[in-house]
Amino acid sequence: MLIDTHAHLNFRAYDNDREEVIKRCQEKGMAVINVGAQLATSKSAVELAAKNKNFYACLGLHPIHAFDEPFNEADYAKLINDKVVAVGECGLDYWWFKYLNEPYKIVLLHGWGGSKDERFFIWLDSELTKLGHKVLRFNFPDSDNPNQEAWLKEMRQQIGYVNGKTLLVGFSLGGVSILRFLETLDEDASVAGVYLLGTPSTSLSYEEIKDFFKTDFDWNHLNAVCQNFNVYSSTNDEVVPAEHGQKLADKLKTKVKLINNAWHFNLDKLSELLVNINEDIIACEKKLPTIEQVVKKQEEVLLAQINLAKKHNLALMLHGRNGLENKDVYAEMLAILKKEKVERAVFHCYGGTLATAKEIVKNGYFIGIDGPVTFTKKAEEIQSIAKEIPLQNLLIETDAPYLTPEPYRGQRNESIYVELVAAKIAELRGITKDEVIEQTWQNAKKVFNFNI
Ligand SMILES: [Zn+2]
Ligand SMILES: [Zn+2]
Repeated sequence: MLIDTHAHLNFRAYDNDREEVIKRCQEKGMAVINVGAQLATSKSAVELAAKNKNFYACLGLHPIHAFDEPFNEADYAKLINDKVVAVGECGLDYWWFKYLNEPYKIVLLHGWGGSKDERFFIWLDSELTKLGHKVLRFNFPDSDNPNQEAWLKEMRQQIGYVNGKTLLVGFSLGGVSILRFLETLDEDASVAGVYLLGTPSTSLSYEEIKDFFKTDFDWNHLNAVCQNFNVYSSTNDEVVPAEHGQKLADKLKTKVKLINNAWHFNLDKLSELLVNINEDIIACEKKLPTIEQVVKKQEEVLLAQINLAKKHNLALMLHGRNGLENKDVYAEMLAILKKEKVERAVFHCYGGTLATAKEIVKNGYFIGIDGPVTFTKKAEEIQSIAKEIPLQNLLIETDAPYLTPEPYRGQRNESIYVELVAAKIAELRGITKDEVIEQTWQNAKKVFNFNI
C-alpha cells in the first residue's frame, strides 16, 4: 500500500478544500499519517484519523514551538488512541532560531496610487536605518489599478519569510494588504509588530478596490500571527474616516491611536510612529530568548516526548534542521536516541549527510525522504542517501503542504504526490516504483506497529 508517513492535512492550508484532498487520497487507496506540531494541530490530526479510513495520527510539539507553548504530557497522553502511531514531530531545529542574530526587518508599504518614494517613507527609512534596522521598501505593481492577488504576490516575493523580528508598516491599502498577507501565513508564523496608518476596514465605496474586501478578515488567525497591532487613524481624514481605524483596532485587540492630520495622512513624518516602533523593538528584545536558551529548551521538550513515546509504546517522529555551524542535529538526535534506548524512530524529512544517515540506519532507525529528492538543484546529498541507504530503512513522505516535489514545485503539496517521491527513489536505485511502494509500506508497518 502507498503510504505518506508524514503529512499535515490537518493544517490550515487545507481549510478550504480538505474534503477533496482527502478524497483524492481515498481514491488512490493510500494511507496517510498526519502530524501535529502543537497541541491544537495534534488534536486535529487525531480527529482526521478518527474520521478517515487508513488515516493515522502522530502527536507532539515541534521544536520551533518549544519556547512559545508548554509541553504538558498529560494533555497529549489524553489524545492517544489506536490510530495514534507516533509521538512528534519533535527534535532539534537549529535553523529556525538563526534569526535571533539577525537585525530587525521593517517593511514599508504604500497605498493606492502611491509609491515607495513618498517623502514619508523616505523619512521613516532613513530614521530606522540610522538605528541599525534593515528597511525594505518596494512598489506594488500597477499602483493606480490595485489588484489584490498581484499585490500579495509582490509581497511574498519581496518579503520572503517573516519571523519574530519582522515589523510591517502599511499606509491605507498597503495596510489592508498586510492583513491579507498575514492571513496567508501558516499557523506557526509570527511577526513582531504591525502598524496600520489610515487603513480602511471596507472598500468604502470604491469599486476599484472591492477585491481587497471580498471576504471578512480572518481575525482569529490575524490575532494568532501578531500580538502587536498598532492602528493609527486621523480625526479629520476625509478619505478613510477614523471609525475604520476604530473597527480595525477593536478586532485586532488594540486601541486606535488618533492623530490630527488634514486629508489622508499627507505627512512628511510621524514621530510618534518612530517612537512606537522603537519601543516595540526594545520590548521585543527583552522577550526574545538567547540561542543557548532555545537549544536547552528544545532538548528538554524532546526528552519529555521521548518519555511519552516510551510510556505508550509509540514510535518517535523526529524533526531536525541544521543551522548552527559545526553542529549536526541529526548526529545529536541519534546520540540522544541511543542514550535513551529508543527502539523505534523516524528521522523525518532527513536533511543531513550520507555519513550520519549510515549511522542512523546502523542503529535500526528509519529515514524519511520527501519532495526535495526530485529537485534538480542542491539535491545531490539526499539523492545519494535515497540511492545508497538500504531500502529496508527508508520511508516516503510529503510533509504536505510543504516541500512539493517536481513537477509541482512552488504549489501546495498534498499526500498523493508521495508517489512522485517513490518514483524518484525507484529511478535512482534502478528498480520499479511498485517495489519502493511495497517495501516502504512494510517499513512503515514495522516502525509504526500498524495492526492492519
Ligand atoms: Zn518537520
Ligand atoms: Zn512536518
